[in-house]
Amino acid sequence: MVIGVTLLGATGSIGVSTLDVLARHRDRFRAVALTANRDAPRLAEQCRQHRPEVAVMVDPDAAQRLRELLSDMPERPEILTGVEGLEQVAAMPATDYVMAAIVGAAGLRPTLAAARAGKRVLLANKESLVVAGALLMQAVSDHGAELLPIDSEHNAIFQCLPPSFRDGLPAVGVERILLTASGGPLRDWPLERFGSVTPEQACAHPTWAMGRKISVDSATMMNKGLEVIEACWLFGTDTDHIEVVIHPQSVIHSLVQYQDGSVLAQLGNPDMRTPITHAMAWPDRLDSGVAPLDLFEVARLDFEKPDLARFPCLSLAFQVARQGGTAPAVLNAANEIAVAAFLERRIDLPGIATIVGETLSALPSEGVAGRGLEFLLETDRRARECAQALVAERSL
Ligand code: NDP
Repeated sequence: MVIGVTLLGATGSIGVSTLDVLARHRDRFRAVALTANRDAPRLAEQCRQHRPEVAVMVDPDAAQRLRELLSDMPERPEILTGVEGLEQVAAMPATDYVMAAIVGAAGLRPTLAAARAGKRVLLANKESLVVAGALLMQAVSDHGAELLPIDSEHNAIFQCLPPSFRDGLPAVGVERILLTASGGPLRDWPLERFGSVTPEQACAHPTWAMGRKISVDSATMMNKGLEVIEACWLFGTDTDHIEVVIHPQSVIHSLVQYQDGSVLAQLGNPDMRTPITHAMAWPDRLDSGVAPLDLFEVARLDFEKPDLARFPCLSLAFQVARQGGTAPAVLNAANEIAVAAFLERRIDLPGIATIVGETLSALPSEGVAGRGLEFLLETDRRARECAQALVAERSL
């Protein structure tokens, strides 16, 4: 059987890597739907190459542009628009696997739709779990969906755990998770120069090539903070059982420490096609196109404790992970607004943590038990509004 794949966020960094994997294994996978937000030229090119049944452009003007660009294509895909279009292709019967690779909380609705339709969800969009972890995990279990992590760290942890880990980490002898972090491009920068960091410098990641939002998150280490929250949901644990370890070479993607003193790690070159291929093929293994790891070339592996004074976003994320309730959704929304403002050069890099911290203070955490998606989306909206106002006050 050829497996149908819906690719949410096809034009992004994860999307392009996923299409590369898919093209290597056309006997096993086919793209049934591709989606993007505004980049019609790139989606048009991908449609010509991968011939999906449906294409979604969230932006209606971009959808019109896509129609024009594909007007001469024989058997052209049906073109949908809006968030409803995303939800539709995440749940369509021809789809078996959904790659959730939209950036930010915008990925939540279609990811949830995929889980509710019982699909295999390949989760790159960590923000979905940060905003609505309880809801998404519940949907996965209620509808018999499978949730496989794409984030390289979580994929590594998944590979180092036994299949029965869902019975609880203590039950399988796990003492703690060691979540590795490269430390990003600013690991060695003098702290007093953080105020002058440009978007280009923040996005120049030393080991990974990624989209701009996650690159800035890596520079502030908010990315690692979001990943701590993601790991709590995926592996049913808490922050007392997760330690962040700076490992600049990005060769060990994370480790699991067991009661008996064993520590299992997953290693590989920093190329997202490895976790993508792993999750698509699981439990089988397939060729990903990634070069074999040459340990002699790597030669050494270094580890450091993160410096929380340098990375206040990481402390904020640990704080909200402990708090729970709406706090993680507020943190995520404020961070998205602050990162966009930094990329537009309206605030400086340290301003990101300030805005996130002030938004968290302005919107105290509320319980989420028994609350649905609309409540979380409303929380997200209020946090964005608050963070926008704070950006306007600080604008350079
Ligand atoms: P990119 O910015 O490269 O791509 C984002 C994708 O999402 C694009 O296809 C974009 O469409 C689409 N998109 C953006 N905004 C919206 C919206 N409002 N509605 C619908 N679609 C939208 O991001 P990445 O590929 O880097 O990251 C994607 C996700 O994967 C993030 O959650 C990130 O944290 C996670 N991730 C990424 C890794 C990486 O190596 N890049 C590693 C681990 C996790 P368009 O092109 O039209 O704007």
